[in-house]
Amino acid sequence: MKPEQPPYRRILLKVSGEVLMGEEPFGIDMVTLDHVAEDIAAVVEAGFELCLVVGGGNIFRGVQVAGRGMERASADYMGMLATIMNALAVQSALERRGVDTRVQSAIPMQAICEPYIRRRALRHLEKGRVVIFAAGLGAPYFTTDTPAALRAAEMGCDALFKGTSVDGVYTADPKKDPTARRYGSIGYQEVLARDLRVMDASAISLARDNNIPIVVFSIRERGNLLKVLTGEGTHTTIEDRTARAA
Ligand code: UDP
Repeated sequence: MKPEQPPYRRILLKVSGEVLMGEEPFGIDMVTLDHVAEDIAAVVEAGFELCLVVGGGNIFRGVQVAGRGMERASADYMGMLATIMNALAVQSALERRGVDTRVQSAIPMQAICEPYIRRRALRHLEKGRVVIFAAGLGAPYFTTDTPAALRAAEMGCDALFKGTSVDGVYTADPKKDPTARRYGSIGYQEVLARDLRVMDASAISLARDNNIPIVVFSIRERGNLLKVLTGEGTHTTIEDRTARAA
């Protein structure tokens, strides 16, 4: 089934490690992993081209241990290794569902995955494969938000999808403030100026400079990725536009 008028054809989905953790305090929850794989498979089946950047916060975040005795750069490299573990888990879950995938790592690790090669990644996407980008930028002092925006630009994606535990960007934290309102659409600049902390500022600037909309949606709601892609699901789009509350 191909959507009538898909707003986006090729997207990059940022899957944070926290998403893979489900309700567990650490690591990968296999049921949640399978739900994420099911949602991604549905999108591929519907004819969209998809690539992923996978985080590692469910296993290791450099910034949390830096300053407690470990050098920041080493801690960040450990975080990047965590993203490779998650990428392999997502690959395996997708392949169980018959989705053709390739993992490409910014830190070459040829015994287990391909190195990041832009042209090869583009070819995989054209062939309908899901490309999973691991190890972030391969550089410390970043999180996986910035590589998500960078790879979205490099892959010519129409949008960067950020799956979170809430269904969009709110005027205030909806868990703490019942009067908080969700934006239907908001400008990049306002997100930065109001310090709404949806993604790292460097990622938002990169998306803004390359005019890539950021679609913030709840990935915890099953089936929501396809719904948002076909214009049905609740979300906020961060784009070059005057902000208006939903
Ligand atoms: N990381 C890094 N450079 C990158 C991407 C990631 O140093 O380009 C490290 C950093 O320590 C980060 C960790 O990998 O905290 C895991 O990534 P992230 O925090 O983005 O995971 P998520 O929050 O998405 O689960």
